[in-house]
Amino acid sequence: MKLVDVHIHLDFPEYAKDLDKVLKKAEESGVKAVIANGVHKESNRSVLEIAKKFRVVKPALGFYPTHTWEFTEEEVDEELDFIRKNKEKVAIGEVGLDYKYPEDEKYKDRKTSIQKQFFEKIIGISEKTKKPLIIHSRKAELDVIEMLESSSLKNPVLHCFSGKKKLMQRAADKGWYFSIPVSVIKSQQFQDMTNYVNLSKLLTETDGPYMAPTPGERNVPENVCLAIKKIGEIKKMEEIEVANNIFMNYQRLFL
Ligand SMILES: [Zn+2]
Repeated sequence: MKLVDVHIHLDFPEYAKDLDKVLKKAEESGVKAVIANGVHKESNRSVLEIAKKFRVVKPALGFYPTHTWEFTEEEVDEELDFIRKNKEKVAIGEVGLDYKYPEDEKYKDRKTSIQKQFFEKIIGISEKTKKPLIIHSRKAELDVIEMLESSSLKNPVLHCFSGKKKLMQRAADKGWYFSIPVSVIKSQQFQDMTNYVNLSKLLTETDGPYMAPTPGERNVPENVCLAIKKIGEIKKMEEIEVANNIFMNYQRLFL
């Protein structure tokens, strides 16, 4: 079975000690491609290095929304330029909006506007470079959808989308992609999404090291097979057929 994990953080410390083993095991389990997503400057450099070392790994370069205010505007713009010019990336991610930072109400407006400014700029880069965005949208789903709607982007990927059903349908009706996390095995919301979205617009992801099927454990790429199985149940299709379709979606979108 051909498996693909379009969203994982291989540069995170959880994989530092045994990344070669993690990827070997993934390949032995049928994983043909793993998209490592960067979350800031240093992370993007690590992602590129990992992708150079392991053929199964494809790099996505990004800036996690809640990191955007930790750097000066100049530093962030420099990184945007780096992302734009880089030729190895198969996607731009992880990027997006995240409004779940309740601990400091005081700077909330400033932080929201910094993220939105950044997201606007990165949408522009995706429009120019034609590289798809892999988008995080926690508690900010409506703003993400509205900003994408006012762009010319045809193929954004909504990663782990947890917005309301109406918003999910609005995005699906536009033909956007959704990457289904392993938690679809338990989550009614992701099951409803799988049911609604056309198979030709579905992808699979782990968001490793996070969101492991067993809480507290580290997530690994081959766990996407659990999502494939569940998608098969929901779509009433053979697992192999689901896997092949999702792999074709990956190839069409990223290669
Ligand atoms: Zn992520």
